[in-house]
Amino acid sequence: MSNQILKCNMVKAVMVLAIMLIAHPVHASCDTGCIAVENDLKLSTCVEYQGVRYAIVLDFTPNTDGFYWKADVPSFKPLQTADSSCIQVENDLALNFCCAAYQGKNYKFTLNYAPYPADPTGYYWKADVSTFSYSEMPPVLAKVVQFSLEKTITADALMAHLKKFDELANAAKDSGYRFSGTPGYANTIEYIKDKLANSGLILSEQKVEYNGGTAVNLFAETATGDENQVILIGAHLDSVAEGPGINDDGTGSAALLEIAIQLGSNKDFKPVNKLKFAWWAFEEPGMIGSTYYVNNLSDAERAKIGMYLNLDMIGTGGDKYYYGIEDGDFSISKTDPKVPAGYIAVFNNYPAYISQNAEIKKAFVSYFENYPVPKSDIIFSALHGNMDYEIFLLNRIPFGGLYSGKDACNHLACDNYQNINKDVLLINTKAIASMVQLYAEKTKLFTTSNL
Ligand SMILES: [Zn+2]
Repeated sequence: MSNQILKCNMVKAVMVLAIMLIAHPVHASCDTGCIAVENDLKLSTCVEYQGVRYAIVLDFTPNTDGFYWKADVPSFKPLQTADSSCIQVENDLALNFCCAAYQGKNYKFTLNYAPYPADPTGYYWKADVSTFSYSEMPPVLAKVVQFSLEKTITADALMAHLKKFDELANAAKDSGYRFSGTPGYANTIEYIKDKLANSGLILSEQKVEYNGGTAVNLFAETATGDENQVILIGAHLDSVAEGPGINDDGTGSAALLEIAIQLGSNKDFKPVNKLKFAWWAFEEPGMIGSTYYVNNLSDAERAKIGMYLNLDMIGTGGDKYYYGIEDGDFSISKTDPKVPAGYIAVFNNYPAYISQNAEIKKAFVSYFENYPVPKSDIIFSALHGNMDYEIFLLNRIPFGGLYSGKDACNHLACDNYQNINKDVLLINTKAIASMVQLYAEKTKLFTTSNL
């Protein structure tokens, strides 16, 4: 936040306080009663600030980045009775609703004073969704305070996973860092399994053999959700033998892990569709793990995969990073000579399939366009292959993904923990979390049928 904006907020905060201070003090505690929440979620209540009480009305005004209530300033009136429950206003203007009755049940939650940039003259409070206990909430209110997977993601948590990946790979560097089939790979699988042990997600492994080595594809899936519409999100866990592979693809693997942890630990998030996370083995020698998985699905099982999201290198360091959205609809790939002929054949022959990829790409674009990153940093990444999305594309399973570019340390020993741009990693992971939740909650994944 700039000083300018901060100052602006301070001025507004003082103005709101002034509105609240125009009357005589009346004292009361919070537990004298419960405020009634109207069906339109309008909050009419009493607030008390430094001993002074006022009647106020807040209108529910959802905005793109959360759930806001806007002060209906003309409704603010000084109160001189002590017979209604009153919300104690804190110095930061947070409103703690001790008890709000809505359709027969009582709830507790906090609204934080949070000016909304699109309406600088209005006074807004924003729901702090972490304060709601909404397990018993009726659908209307539950939707209002819906779980936001994206907001559970932090850079610290992602970087802690990468630190561990780096340690485990470096401890085994003489046997090939985290190359599939090495102790570095096996120990990292154990770390992920340990982190997900109490997540409520169902873990499974698939043995993959290649060139004399054996490693596993690891999966974690939700116990609930429509198993006929599986959303698969994948990243390759293996490194090259020459380096610890922290950007390539520790970043994608850490993003999946943290999203899985957060999603698994929230019992109130019930996806409509089944979510399945995949850490692929043997990507570096040629996408062996993901190809093995798809090729060993029966036709019926393959048909149940509604979409695939691929994460490969999403925390690129240096100054060469960008927010690269995989070009699943071929808008730039169709004329790119580096795109494999087999991909172009799919593009030419299956327009209905391509339009499904276009929907996924568009959803990514709208995420990044609503995020405060420079528009010039958002690019489409041509489908040059050497990525785990390949087998999905060739089997016409709708796909999308992120890739933030190749840095100077790619496939070298210096692709380590220090090589990561944690802001880029955080924003990309939030984008994926947002997409996972968006598609997890869709009863119909695509507007176009591929049949
Ligand atoms: Zn990679």
